[in-house]
Amino acid sequence: MTIIIGVESTAHTFGIGIVKDGKVLANERDMYNTEEGGIIPTDAADHHRELGPGIYEKALEAAGIKEEDVDAVSFSQGPGLPPCLLAGRDFARDLALRLGKPLVPVNHCVAHLEVGRMTGATDPVLLYCSGANTQVIAYAAGKYRIFGETLDVGVGNFIDNFARYAGLGFPGGPKIEKIAKESTNLIELPYRVKGMDIALSGILTNLRQKLEKGAKLADLAYSLQETVFPMLVETAERALAHVNKKELLLGGGVACNSRLQEMSKKMCEERGAAFFCPERPLLVDNGAMIAFLGEIMFEAGVKVEGEAIEKIDIMPRQRTDQIDVVWKK
Ligand code: AMP
Ligand code: MG
Repeated sequence: MTIIIGVESTAHTFGIGIVKDGKVLANERDMYNTEEGGIIPTDAADHHRELGPGIYEKALEAAGIKEEDVDAVSFSQGPGLPPCLLAGRDFARDLALRLGKPLVPVNHCVAHLEVGRMTGATDPVLLYCSGANTQVIAYAAGKYRIFGETLDVGVGNFIDNFARYAGLGFPGGPKIEKIAKESTNLIELPYRVKGMDIALSGILTNLRQKLEKGAKLADLAYSLQETVFPMLVETAERALAHVNKKELLLGGGVACNSRLQEMSKKMCEERGAAFFCPERPLLVDNGAMIAFLGEIMFEAGVKVEGEAIEKIDIMPRQRTDQIDVVWKK
């Protein structure tokens, strides 16, 4: 029996998850929000430091466990916003020291991929669509590999940026999804797939210009989804073909979008692949996925102990493809 605590704090969300033998006992989180504008990293970090202890208490209560039962504390070491990562690192480090338990540093993107196991995926290609990150990731030949990614902004930030320009607040994704349902008028937009990569900033400029010239917001929202989501699905399909895998997994906040889910599912059906999309609490940034991967790594002997805990650092630009993957055989 192993009980692991997971601390997530890479960006807007502070989350505490508790996992026991691969099962989620608790998954508590709180998201930093703004009325207008995007995330201010230091403000988000203040949010994490302020609310962290309360979220932790709630998680312990929801899990019905005592601190003494915990075997290790895992945390998101990177990639992410440095002030936010520091808030989570401090929380996890202090907790590990206080409990006298090891620390397990986890890569955030890999956690999005591995948590797919809970939904039945065993060896998926991950289409990771979050605010800042947009990547196609899969495990191949001993490493997690990035097969494709955005060449400029992340798809969530792209949508949020356009939504902000159109006078909608943050986060813009859910609002764009809702408005898009009011239209079926497809306005042609640039389609930018380069191999397994995509580019979004030119499309953003194009959308802004069309809005200024009087195009209807609903038409643009609809056209945005009908243009950009196929781009994402195309890169994922190319990766599936390239590595000859049979499972697609969605991850990240934009994956909450039902149209993106629908297109992904259809692509999978057409090529005989299985489609997996975790429930919302495991799809967006959360502590449970950190604890889930933390447990797998801990069982494989990956842990930081003793005095080394005090020196553990964050890795804001940690590269997913440079990880020494000792926990997968
Ligand atoms: P993450 O960085 O993974 O937490 O995801 C946050 C991003 O997901 C933000 O850019 C949101 O606008 C976006 N998002 C959330 N819900 C939706 C949705 N239903 N459709 C599109 N984007 C969404
Ligand atoms: Mg994420």
